[in-house]
Amino acid sequence: MDYAVRVSHYVDPATFEIQRDVIVLISGAHVVEVIVGGEVSGGLDGLARQTLEFDNAVCLPGFVNSHAHLDLSHLHGQVPSGLTFPEWAPAVIAGRGMPQAMIDAGIDDACRMMVASGTTAVLDISVGGDSAAHLAKHGLRGNLALEVLGWSGDAAEKAMARADEIVRKEFELDAERLGKDAGDAAAPAVRDGIDYSYSPHAPYSTSMELYQHAFGRAFGEGRVCTTHVAESPEEEAFIRDGTGPLPELLGKLGLDLSGFPGFGTTPISLLLGDWLMPWLGAENHRLVLVHCNYAREADFEHLAVTKPSVCWCPRSHAWFGHEPWPLARMREAGVNLVIGTDSLASNSGLDMLGEIRLAAQHPDADVTELFKAATVNGRKALGIPADAADLAIWGLPAGADDNLFKAMLANEVPLYASFSRGNLIARAI
Ligand SMILES: [Zn+2]
Repeated sequence: MDYAVRVSHYVDPATFEIQRDVIVLISGAHVVEVIVGGEVSGGLDGLARQTLEFDNAVCLPGFVNSHAHLDLSHLHGQVPSGLTFPEWAPAVIAGRGMPQAMIDAGIDDACRMMVASGTTAVLDISVGGDSAAHLAKHGLRGNLALEVLGWSGDAAEKAMARADEIVRKEFELDAERLGKDAGDAAAPAVRDGIDYSYSPHAPYSTSMELYQHAFGRAFGEGRVCTTHVAESPEEEAFIRDGTGPLPELLGKLGLDLSGFPGFGTTPISLLLGDWLMPWLGAENHRLVLVHCNYAREADFEHLAVTKPSVCWCPRSHAWFGHEPWPLARMREAGVNLVIGTDSLASNSGLDMLGEIRLAAQHPDADVTELFKAATVNGRKALGIPADAADLAIWGLPAGADDNLFKAMLANEVPLYASFSRGNLIARAI
C-alpha cells in the first residue's frame, strides 16, 4: 500500500455521503479501501509506506475543472470585465500573439494556482498542446481538448491534420490510427495522466464538416469532444439569421460572411438536433457542452434526450454579465452538470471553490449538487475512474459537522493536501 490517510470526515465519491473517522488506503492511482469508524487497532502504523493524519479535515474527491484555456493564463488581470463578447474576443486574439515564453510562464502559474486550490484534473481547451508538459510537471491529470475551427470543408481536413500534428508531438502515438506516420515521428516523452480530446470551437466559427470530423473521431476513439455553444446573445442572433456584430468580427479574421442567412435555429438545436445527431443516439458519447447560457425551450428537449455534460462557468458568466444561468431547467433536463473556470482572460482565478461560492448565490442552487458538479460529475465527463485516488483534503472550520459543504463556502478553508492519480501533489501540513 502506498498511502494510508486518516481524516475526520470523508465524502464518498459514489454516494456523496459524509462518513466519520475514516482511513483511506491508496495503492497506485486508486483508492483500494476505505475503513470507516477508525477500527484499526494501533492506528496507521504498518498500513502503508506513507501515512498522513488530519484532525478536523474532510477528504473530498479532487476538483475537476471541466473548462479552462490554460494557454490564455498570461492575460490574467489584463482584460477588463464588462465587455461584450465581440469586444472581448479581439483582446484575446491579440494575446495569442504574445511571445511563447510568456504563454509558457502563464500556463506554469496556472498549474500552480490549480494545485494550490484542490484541483486534481482539468479539461483544457488547447490551441497548440502547450499545457501537456506543464500539467505533467505539476502532477495534474490533464485532458487537452485540441481546438479546431474553420468554416469551409477544406479547412476541416486541415484543422484535423493540425490536431494530428500536436498529437504526434505531445503524446504517445497511436500507431493503429496514424499508421506509418506514427513510426516516422520522433517519439515524445510518455506523459502519464495526460490525454487528449477534440474541441470544435463554436458553431459560429466552425463548419458542420469540421464538427462532424472532430466529433466522429472522438466518438470512434472513445474520447471527449467539447465545444462552446450558446454563449452570447450575439452568437444566438448570428446562428438564427446571420445578424448582429459577429459577421463583422469574423470578417476581421478573414471570413467573408456577407449574405450568410443564418441557420434559422438556436445554436444548441443546430448541434444536437442536426450536426451531431448521427452520434447522439448512442449512450456512450462523451460530449461536453460549454456555457449554454442562452438555452431556449426547444434546446431543453434536445438536452433531455441526448444528455450531454453541460459546463457552467459561474465567474466567467458573471464577468460578461449574461442572463441568469438556466440551472433549474438543466436539472430538469437531466444533463450531467459540470463546472469550469474558463480562462484567466475572463476570470479572476482558477479556484473551483470560488466558482462554487458564486454559483451558490444562484436562486435555484443546491450546494451539495454544486460540489458534485465540481468533482464526481467532472470525473464522469472526463472518463476518470470512480475509484481514482484524486483527492483533496481540506481543513474544516469549528462546528462544520452539521452542514459541512455550506461551512466550506462560508469560511476560508485551507487545503491540507491533495493527490492526483495517487501522487501527493500538494501538502501544506
Ligand atoms: Zn472557453
